[in-house]
Amino acid sequence: MSKLAKKVALVTGGSRGIGAAIAKRLAADGASVAITYAKDADAASAVVKAIEQSGGKAVAIQADSADTKAVQAAVEKAFTTFGRLDVLVNNAGTAIPKPFEETPIDEMDRVIDINVRGVLVATQTALKHIGEGGRIIMIGSCVGERVVAPGLVAYSATKGAVKMFAQGLSREVGSRGITVNNVQPGPIDTDLNPAAGDWAVPQKAATGLGRYGTVEEVAALVSFVAGPESSYITGANLTVDGGTNA
Ligand code: NDP
Repeated sequence: MSKLAKKVALVTGGSRGIGAAIAKRLAADGASVAITYAKDADAASAVVKAIEQSGGKAVAIQADSADTKAVQAAVEKAFTTFGRLDVLVNNAGTAIPKPFEETPIDEMDRVIDINVRGVLVATQTALKHIGEGGRIIMIGSCVGERVVAPGLVAYSATKGAVKMFAQGLSREVGSRGITVNNVQPGPIDTDLNPAAGDWAVPQKAATGLGRYGTVEEVAALVSFVAGPESSYITGANLTVDGGTNA
C-alpha cells in the first residue's frame, strides 16, 4: 500500500516550483492533495490535472498567504473537500533580494506577512483538524541558519523565525502524536531563484556539490518527513542545500 494512502495533505503555494513538486510527490505517495496559490490559476489547474491524470485526487484553492481570512478558509476547504487533514506543508514564500537599507517597509511587511504570519495562521487553523500521526512541515531555508551572501536580510530573518516556530510548536503538539519539522532548501532552480544568471553564480559556488538543487530533491525529503518512517523526528531543521551550510 502507498505510504500516504487515505491521508490528506495541504501544500501552500503549490502551483509552481518547490510546492508543485511536493504536491505531485505526496499525491504519488497516495495522499489526496489540496494546494493554494495566489495569482496563477492556470498553473494551479495544471498541477491538479497532472495529479488526476496519474490517478490521484487534488484540488486548487486561491488564497493569498498574506490574507488571514483567505488562509483560514483555504484550510477549512481542504478539510471539507477530503474529509480530513493529516499533513500541512507551509511552502508559500517570497523573497526580496535587495540591500536591507534600500528595502521599503511595505516590501518587508509583505515578506513577513507571507513567510511568517501566513505560516502561523495556516498552522493554527490546520491544528483544529490534524490528529495522531499528523505532520506540520515548514519550508524554511538554509539562510534561516546561516547567511552566506548579502542581500537577503529580511528574507533570512523570516526563515529564522520559521525555524524557531517549528521548534517551539513541536513542544506543544508532540503529546498528540503530531510532529513539526522545518525543511531548509539551499539554492533550488525555480522562478524565484533561477539557476541561470548573475545571482546564481555565488549561490552555486557556496554549495559543496557545485550545483543548484532540483525541486524533486526537496520533495523527496518532504515525502520522507510526511511519511510514517519519520515518526521520531520532530523539532528538527533538515537541510537539503547541496552542502551550502556545511
Ligand atoms: P516560486 O516563486 O517558484 O513559487 C512560489 C509558489 O508559491 C507559487 O505556487 C506561487 O503561486 C505561490 N505563492 C507565492 N506567493 C504566494 C502568496 N502570497 N500566497 C499563496 N501562494 C503564494 O518559489 P519557490 O518554489 O522557489 O519557493 C517555495 C518555498 O521555498 C518558499 O517558501 C521559499 O522561500 C523556499 N525556498 C526556496 C529556495 C529556492 O532556492 N528556490 C531556497 C530556500 C527556500 P502564484 O504563482 O499563484 O503566486
